[in-house]
Amino acid sequence: MHCPACYSDKCETVETINTGDIIKLYKRVLGIDVSKLFSGTPLIEYTHCLACDLRFFFPWVSGDEVFYEELQEFDWYYDETEKPEYLFASQFIAEGASVLEVGCGNGAFRSFLPTSVAYTGLEFNDKAIRKAQALGLDVKKCPVEKYAETADLLHDVVCSFQVIEHVSEPRKFFASCAKATKHGG
Ligand SMILES: [Zn+2]
Repeated sequence: MHCPACYSDKCETVETINTGDIIKLYKRVLGIDVSKLFSGTPLIEYTHCLACDLRFFFPWVSGDEVFYEELQEFDWYYDETEKPEYLFASQFIAEGASVLEVGCGNGAFRSFLPTSVAYTGLEFNDKAIRKAQALGLDVKKCPVEKYAETADLLHDVVCSFQVIEHVSEPRKFFASCAKATKHGG
């Protein structure tokens, strides 16, 4: 096992979790069946990287499209009206900047930015994409890893909110975000 952020193997287990308990809790609290996501993974280890202090769960299990479709049915899931991180990030974005938001949901962050900003969003969830597109936003269904390979234009700002915890390979994710950013961006 190695740390997904710094790749160190100096990691220790803090707690071992039976995924059967996670499956039961999801069913009881939210009525969502996550058993498919954990098939072949009876145990998850809550792990601490002693090199960089990151805490993470191992093995890395990511939610699939069905899982996020189901979560999105809850009103609270995409409640993006009161996010302090949007306000915080928006002060670093200049008039006319080109902004890429990775995992943009229904594109709520766009409304925190000057109208002169050229905004592009990346998202997996079809319903969220349709909502964003209905608002006239440029939102593509594309992983940032692929986008960074093919994008013909680099962005002044590449940002992402509450996404990293859903990503199974964060180091690759960060590298792709950096690749989609202009020099000095
Ligand atoms: Zn680490």
